[in-house]
Amino acid sequence: MKKILITGGAGFIGSHLAKELLEKGYEVTVMDNLFTGNKSNIYGLLDNPRFSFILHDITKPFWGQFDEIYNLACPASPVHYQKNPVETIKTSIMGIINVLELGLKTKAKILHASTSEIYGDPLQHPQKESYWGNVNPIGIRSCYDEGKRASETLCMDYLREYDVDVRIVRIFNTYGPNMHPNDGRVVSNFIMQALKNQDITIYGTGNQTRSFQYIEDLINILIKFMEKEKEELYNQLKILGREKLPIINTGNPREVTITELATKILQLIPESRSKIIFKDLPKDDPKRRKPDITLAKNLFGWEPKIELEEGLKNTIEYFKKTII
Ligand code: NAD
Ligand code: UDP
Repeated sequence: MKKILITGGAGFIGSHLAKELLEKGYEVTVMDNLFTGNKSNIYGLLDNPRFSFILHDITKPFWGQFDEIYNLACPASPVHYQKNPVETIKTSIMGIINVLELGLKTKAKILHASTSEIYGDPLQHPQKESYWGNVNPIGIRSCYDEGKRASETLCMDYLREYDVDVRIVRIFNTYGPNMHPNDGRVVSNFIMQALKNQDITIYGTGNQTRSFQYIEDLINILIKFMEKEKEELYNQLKILGREKLPIINTGNPREVTITELATKILQLIPESRSKIIFKDLPKDDPKRRKPDITLAKNLFGWEPKIELEEGLKNTIEYFKKTII
């Protein structure tokens, strides 16, 4: 039976991934320091004899024999990662070194969760994997952006120097049940505000854009990417002009403005008495973001299936239960 480690598995994405991998019949270990994650996300899994939880900070070395490691540990929302920027960048850099060392010693396959933030405030649109980005190295988002960029560098150096089987997935804004209600991300903020009849806080003009991917679509591509046999993956990458670059974008290419998102959420919660208000735009907030997912389509025949309206409805139902 395949043994899988998920670092950061008590968080939003990791908890969905753990559930799905258990359903596929694998043995799943979650390692998390519960910095932003919550055990309530994995309560439903604790009774499964194929599931185990280890309370551990990945900046400290660890040991275990696994076939696959999904490295998701890292605070992901701007509010969370800016609360403790030094821990954030340490998690990205020291954490991935510990994961890669384990992969090197045990021959475990690694899938590393990177982010669209490595493109910064992009000057190319939509963003392709070949784009190098436009990132402020010393701003308030840098602990996350530069941490993730450095972790990509480490992955590629362990791949080239030691032949570690590591794959990098650049995740664009993802939402769904199990998001932290107070993580400050736009989807959770707007839904919670609408449900509590509080003002909907648009930062800046609301004309900035994001592309929102539903969690189910993300989990689907994460597992496909991890499970692809190495030789086949490398052959296909070569044909597609990305030789020895196992890096893909994942996201939903439907681009919406933040004002459109607020309007849509208010439409889906018609009983809400919330009003839209405008607040200052945080520093270095990217203006536009939209993934080019051609590579993931060509490699896996994958594309997102869940429309924004459907995903938001599911997420609203989840947040309603957290309030009661
Ligand atoms: P999350 O905050 O819900 O989950 C992150 C988990 O990592 C939490 O359970 C947290 O406690 C744990 N963690 C943090 N630091 C740790 C450490 N030092 N040691 C052990 N565990 C630690 O965030 P998420 O949205 O589930 O994000 C998961 C991963 O996906 C992150 O690496 C994030 O950068 C990446 N990502 C997420 C999105 C998104 O839209 N959700 C977008 C791009 C990238
Ligand atoms: N945003 C907003 N109101 C909020 C929270 C976020 O207008 O209450 C904006 C934020 O300024 C950004 C976009 O929504 O332009 C997405 O923010 P989020 O923190 O979700 O993700 P990221 O900026 O990392 O893409």
